[in-house]
Amino acid sequence: MRYKSTRGDTVVSASQAIFAGIAPDGGLFVPQEFPQVNPEDFYGLTYPETAKKVLSLYLTDYDPEFLLRAAQEVYGENFGGKAGYVRKVRGNTYALELWHGPTCAFKDYALQLMPRLLVKAKENLGVTGTTKILTATSGDTGKAALAGYAGLEGIRIAVFYPEAGTSEVQRLQMATQRGDNVQVYAVQGNFDDAQTAVKRAFADRDLARQLAEKNETLSSANSINWGRLAPQIVYYFYAYSQLAASGAVRSGERVSFCVPTGNFGDILAGYYAMRMGLPIKKLICASNENNVLTDFIRTGVYDARRAFYRTSSPSMDILVSSNLERLLYHVSGDSALTAQWMRELSEKGVYQVPADVLAKIQAVFGCGCADDAETREEIRMSWQEDGYLCDTHTAVAMRTARSAAADNELCVVLSTADAYKFPRAVLQAIAGSAPEDEFEAMRLLHEKTGAPIPQSLACLREQPVRFQDVIQKEDVRAAALSL
Ligand SMILES: *Cc1c(COP(=O)(O)O)cnc(C)c1O
Repeated sequence: MRYKSTRGDTVVSASQAIFAGIAPDGGLFVPQEFPQVNPEDFYGLTYPETAKKVLSLYLTDYDPEFLLRAAQEVYGENFGGKAGYVRKVRGNTYALELWHGPTCAFKDYALQLMPRLLVKAKENLGVTGTTKILTATSGDTGKAALAGYAGLEGIRIAVFYPEAGTSEVQRLQMATQRGDNVQVYAVQGNFDDAQTAVKRAFADRDLARQLAEKNETLSSANSINWGRLAPQIVYYFYAYSQLAASGAVRSGERVSFCVPTGNFGDILAGYYAMRMGLPIKKLICASNENNVLTDFIRTGVYDARRAFYRTSSPSMDILVSSNLERLLYHVSGDSALTAQWMRELSEKGVYQVPADVLAKIQAVFGCGCADDAETREEIRMSWQEDGYLCDTHTAVAMRTARSAAADNELCVVLSTADAYKFPRAVLQAIAGSAPEDEFEAMRLLHEKTGAPIPQSLACLREQPVRFQDVIQKEDVRAAALSL
């Protein structure tokens, strides 16, 4: 399998796509074909076996046995034996619980595996020297990346988060990270400041030259890397196998998936699964108040010129969904057009796709959105009526599924974070009020619901804080050099 840029003619191997992250023309790497499979061939496979079967079709320059071993190592005990766990919530609604991993959010699926794919890519390409990963994070990505890259040979990682921009739980998750090859910094300013500073470091030729003298290169862990997307295709197949095994669907019957969406990575993985032959009826894109994608799927106009809301589902507070570019390329089949839309987006903040492209998108994608009040209401209803405890992100999708999925169709909601990652918002929704202190909110939420507090979050308060540095955004460059 070869990979092509969404914006031009560059074609590379899987290892090159994973090592480079982004194409030289600014485009994203997409597979040149959709490998075709028979979903029944996946029935009865374990999660790691499913991962090997899916990934070896895409990562054709990786040894399938290596892929199996890596998947066994990261998706076993690490996920409490619950990788890709599906549970019935009510009637025709099921939850695909993706938060049983080490950092309690679905990003673990990609960020536990991708570091191993990167190390192997370097080996495949004969690249020596140290790879320095710089990542700006608003919360979940930072910890998941730290946990994935900690302790790996030939890799160092620095995470930059906005000083006052994360929850206390998120901050402590990062500040207590163990490992000799990790660094964590708070950056004065907001997420945009941190992200801009990191982007500037990547574009800094002088910095690149200084690093090259030490045989070091920079790389990023953000969600546009193919190595982050591919592992997410796996759980769509695994979920379907479980539904078939339990008799919830007849083999070949189509189901819908409703996905809480920010950067469009998780839902796009479902699109790949569908194009490979998984019987998917609709992929329903669920947004919070930052509902630029809902409007796009309804009208074909992507307009980022709008107010930005800070919501109770912060990992979806995004106005520019990077991975949408891949979908635009796949449905239009036209890299010049894709490049033009992306240029219009960066220059004017808006673009519109023609009717035929919109029709192809609407044939596959449904959409809907929920504001914070509706999200709270959904958390309360799901808990009180169905005994299902949702985090804020999952609740946005649960709400959307109620309105956007037809009554008689089976809908799987992707449950993307453990409720205890956002204990104040969840407790507020269920109990009507919540204390300022997040650990106290966790305790009260546990008292109220009996749901177990994940060990990795419960013990955070007792873990030694290793990183307390607050830096200016101008200091990111120096941090990259000294990493
Ligand atoms: C990142 C994230 C999302 C959004 O996923 P995308 O791939 O960016 O669309 C949803 N929920 C949670 C909890 C997340 O961390």
